[in-house]
Amino acid sequence: MIKEKTGIQELIDLDKKHFIHPTTAIEQQQADGPSFIFKEGKGIYLTDVKGRTVIDGMSSLWNVNIGHGQEELADVAREQMAKLAFTSNFATFSNEPAIRLAAKIASIAPGDLNAVFFTSGGSESNDTAFKLARHYWILKGQPNRQKIISRSKSYHGVAMGATSATGLKPFRDFTNSIAPDFCYVDGSSIEELRKAIEKEGPETVAAFIAEPIQGAGGVNLPPEGYFKEVREICDEYGILMVTDEVITGFGRTGVYFGIEHYGVVPDMMCFAKGVTSGYAQLGGVVLNDKLHKDFISLSKGTLLHGYTYSGHPMACAVALKNIEIIERENLMENSKQRGEELLAGFKKLQGKHQIIGDVRALGLIGGISIVKDKMTGEGFKTQLAPRLVAEAAKNGLICRSVTFDQDTLVFAPPLIITKTEVEKIIDILDKTFTAVEKEIL
Ligand code: PMP
Repeated sequence: MIKEKTGIQELIDLDKKHFIHPTTAIEQQQADGPSFIFKEGKGIYLTDVKGRTVIDGMSSLWNVNIGHGQEELADVAREQMAKLAFTSNFATFSNEPAIRLAAKIASIAPGDLNAVFFTSGGSESNDTAFKLARHYWILKGQPNRQKIISRSKSYHGVAMGATSATGLKPFRDFTNSIAPDFCYVDGSSIEELRKAIEKEGPETVAAFIAEPIQGAGGVNLPPEGYFKEVREICDEYGILMVTDEVITGFGRTGVYFGIEHYGVVPDMMCFAKGVTSGYAQLGGVVLNDKLHKDFISLSKGTLLHGYTYSGHPMACAVALKNIEIIERENLMENSKQRGEELLAGFKKLQGKHQIIGDVRALGLIGGISIVKDKMTGEGFKTQLAPRLVAEAAKNGLICRSVTFDQDTLVFAPPLIITKTEVEKIIDILDKTFTAVEKEIL
């Protein structure tokens, strides 16, 4: 811990002066400085330089699945770095951790998703899926199939393609020009998807992308039967189905990949975050056998897509150990059971607090909608979620607000969480809602 006040103040000053935070309200950063300067983590807990310990109810950015401070991952990273920190995987070069991780992911991915292209994160994975889909159709002699359809309220990242596919409009409006050939459909209606394909012209559509459960859009579960129908429609029109498992992968929802709940297999599946539990930067796209075989038989010359860090040896070694821990510690089963307890806790709070509307969770990803009127679902003029997040933090719990056309609290605690710790989260939320309701009602 940094003991002297001056030490902490120096960090705050340097932060404001030199550190442009990702996805931040820059005015607020300048006015208030960082709310927490985290220093260490253990399990579901984070501790800051002032010595405050809080529950990481978001697994930081939905990614620290196995929890903080797992020394086995640190050991593996050190060993691999000392042995071989980096090597190229371009052309015919390769390395053992990347090969073994690709094979491991093939063994746990649904159906015939068997060939992996590695990236450094979620945005790169989605951009890769879009480029591979578009290139695929060129190879297949259908070069007009270039459009990518995505859902409203979706979040796919901030690289240019990923931003362009993101259904949450404020991310696209951040600049005045995004990538061409992206279109959006209402994410809750299968009829809208069919209509959009017909309107655009099926022969111009390369792929449809969706998160099995939308995360940054407010933790939205799909309507009953949605993905079965998506699969059918994609097959009917010859469109590639891509799922974005960046949040929902690696045990988050109680199974390996979120799409497994819906009994269908996409043509491509993007992953990141939980693959390393955030201990190293890694993502990727898994292709099914048909796409892989077609790329092998139809490609001429070089596949001109690849990142310096595609198949990074240290990141892949960390991922292999992370997956081993998820399996060894039964974390998927824990996610399922603790997720049921979390949802039961949300329902208890819903019965007690006037401003709680819809609640939902599947495994350890959940959301609470804030409403003024439970009957009509009408919301408050000024959203309350940010205030609740601040109050929860004061009470020792980090969670996150979603305020795009809604007023929602979202949660995604580490998969190692215990029953007692879930109860602790519910107790803190109870106290938090009581305090905020006292102020406003
Ligand atoms: N897809 C989804 C569903 C995500 O939630 C995120 C990140 N929150 C991304 C893609 C982008 O990933 P990254 O920030 O690693 O680029």
